[in-house]
Amino acid sequence: MIILLMGPPGAGKGTQATLLEKATGLPHVSTGDLFRAVNPKTPLGAKVSKIMAGGELVRDSLTNELLAQRLQQKDCAKGFLLDGYPRTLAQAKYLDAWLKKRKKRIDAVLYFDLPVAKAVSRLSLRLTCDSCGMVYNELRTPGVKKCVRCGGALYRRDDQSPAAVKKRFAEYGRKTEPVLAHYAAKLRRVDVGQTPEKTFHRAVIALGL
Ligand code: ADP
Ligand code: ZN
Repeated sequence: MIILLMGPPGAGKGTQATLLEKATGLPHVSTGDLFRAVNPKTPLGAKVSKIMAGGELVRDSLTNELLAQRLQQKDCAKGFLLDGYPRTLAQAKYLDAWLKKRKKRIDAVLYFDLPVAKAVSRLSLRLTCDSCGMVYNELRTPGVKKCVRCGGALYRRDDQSPAAVKKRFAEYGRKTEPVLAHYAAKLRRVDVGQTPEKTFHRAVIALGL
């Protein structure tokens, strides 16, 4: 199965992807995670880190290339969960062509729907594990110091500053929302107003699992 996870920054795509990965056995492919894994000491890594810290999107050609490299790996042969990609119409068209060439198709596009004000406040409370990428919400897990999954240290991503958050939402509205229309026929809306568990339950139902 090939499932796309879409929604504004802060909607909890990453958390849902982790849960869905466990439930389906499909690998979780996140372009954000792929970019964060590029060594910031290399010229490319330094450039990417700077773009991300400012809340801007990395350019399509580089994003597409990195994604294609990841999708070529063996574990993706049975399908995958795509988190944070495609974020522009150009990326969506690239993905469509990539899939067509391999006679594959997208099974479902989950749209995690959250009002902007809520999404912004969630982002400011976000803590991320520096080794496995698991996301925590300070309100839900008060006083959490270490990752419960892997013991890694938790940090605040440097794209959580108010200016960067503003920029991320602007990019989302201008470049990513048109992608939702592109996939209108496959879109399944999931309300994310409540707990991650409830959202997951809704996602499972939306996928018919
Ligand atoms: P979130 O879902 O919290 O907004 P991600 O981890 O998905 O964050 O992405 C973090 C950053 O990585 C983005 O703000 C952007 O700079 C870059 N990025 C991730 N995916 C893409 C993409 N598909 N196209 C361009 N840039 C991307
Ligand atoms: Zn961890």
